[in-house]
Amino acid sequence: MTSRYDRQIKIKQIGIKGQQKLESSKVLVIGVGGLGSFVSSELVKAGIGEITLVDYDAVELTNLHRQNLYTEDDVGTKKLNAMKHHLQMANKEVKINTIDQKYSENLLNDNYDLVIDCTDNFPVKYQINQDCQKLGIKHIFGTCAANQGQVMFIDSESACLECLYPKDKVAQLGLSANIGTNPMIVAITGSLQASLAMKFLTSGKYNAGQLLVIDNWTFDFRKIKVSKKSNCPIK
Ligand SMILES: [Zn+2]
Repeated sequence: MTSRYDRQIKIKQIGIKGQQKLESSKVLVIGVGGLGSFVSSELVKAGIGEITLVDYDAVELTNLHRQNLYTEDDVGTKKLNAMKHHLQMANKEVKINTIDQKYSENLLNDNYDLVIDCTDNFPVKYQINQDCQKLGIKHIFGTCAANQGQVMFIDSESACLECLYPKDKVAQLGLSANIGTNPMIVAITGSLQASLAMKFLTSGKYNAGQLLVIDNWTFDFRKIKVSKKSNCPIK
């Protein structure tokens, strides 16, 4: 019988070995809104071993244009329950755990191969960055609003979110509720986070400290090397 993963196993950088690594991987996805929808569905369909989802919100009608897994029937229900249902329908082989609460440091542990930050809240992003750096857990930063998305893979040796945007200098980056969100930038940004995860989990390879900035209105794609700050307050 042909494996359901036949087409990705045929990619020479992945192969059967990469697929086996993916199937023994565990990730923590924080936030199952727009970015979390794409990240989770792509990794679950690709056959990740175990995925743990953290969220406490309910689905709203204004989510449906960009949070691709949710349907009209989900409005008013807990995102975690709806997400788990949709993901499990997509792939029954994947172990899916849910944690119904706001993010806090005690959710992190080194059982996770990777943490993926899919929140839309900068104070929480700084907390995730700090906690992951402290515990030496690799994580993937992602954010998007209006027509712009940004992603960066972060490890303990690379530039971190504080090196990129020092917290004390950031008044407020754009938020979806204020400046809107082009639904396709959510798909692109989430898919790039999932791509970074796929590469790392199947091959062990990654490029940390490289910020990718995408604009899906002007169609500018920029890759920026971010230096680790010698005076970074983290660690
Ligand atoms: Zn830093």
